[in-house]
Amino acid sequence: MDEWVEETLHPGVRFGLKAERIVFDSRTDHQHLVIFEHGRFGTVMTLDGVVQLTTADEFVYHEMITHLPLLAHGRAENVLIIGGGDGGALRETLKHRALQKVTLCEIDRGVIDLCSEYFPKVSDGAFDDPRAEIVIADGTKFVAETDRRFDVIIVDSTDPIGPGAVLFTPEFYAGCKRCLTDGGILVTQNGVPFMQGPELTGSVKAFRRLFRDASAYLASTPTYIGGPMSYGWATDNLALRRLSRDVIATRYQEAGLNTLYYNPEVHTAAFALPGYVRDLIDA
Ligand code: SAM
Repeated sequence: MDEWVEETLHPGVRFGLKAERIVFDSRTDHQHLVIFEHGRFGTVMTLDGVVQLTTADEFVYHEMITHLPLLAHGRAENVLIIGGGDGGALRETLKHRALQKVTLCEIDRGVIDLCSEYFPKVSDGAFDDPRAEIVIADGTKFVAETDRRFDVIIVDSTDPIGPGAVLFTPEFYAGCKRCLTDGGILVTQNGVPFMQGPELTGSVKAFRRLFRDASAYLASTPTYIGGPMSYGWATDNLALRRLSRDVIATRYQEAGLNTLYYNPEVHTAAFALPGYVRDLIDA
């Protein structure tokens, strides 16, 4: 029988998806994980009642959180993904053949195991790639303690509730800065500004204390409701946010990418922020 799965992430708002079939519903060691089939969005996963990914629109989020910082950097060899247990960001990152190693630090092994089983096409073999290293740990602890250094850090986190809350703290961002190489880039999942404004304001404020350049870029994913979603951006290299469309187009071609949302025009346009988002960043 059809059942409505309702997300109640935003106070006073219910976002419902009609589940044709619930295929998994249980607790992992860290979170309540539900997987179900939907008529338009395909297979959907929620964690603690919040939509994380659907097979129909995951490409937007995963392409934008990976290719944009990787092509902006241009010479990345070592990448760190914090969270990202579904493997989608790992899949897109590994498309960059020049990368030597991609470390994914996920707190919840259950997410990796269940996504490998129910969403095999999302990771598409990425967990078995010889350049991939999987660490099961809290991201805050990892960035505070590791001796390794990364050219790009991608924070593919849940929202700031449950285990993901620590990934929005100044202490965590300081840990990221500590293990970035000179001129490295930090990007973060920063919520939908219209619905979660203080989250973006808080992150960018913390970035500004640590980095010479702090901002955000935008992309619209249908199941992250309330308008475009923001990705936090922080680096000490002031030039990287302002690279021209032509520079990115050359890098895009050299990387041999084939993408559905991300492209050189979208890359440069993503940094154009509407007034209400700029106000949140400058608040
Ligand atoms: N696309 C997503 C969304 O909707 O925001 C993010 C998805 S990805 C599944 C988020 C992952 O972050 C989850 O698998 C969760 O277990 C992981 N995570 C949450 N807190 C974490 C922490 N403190 N350290 C490492 N990983 C964490």
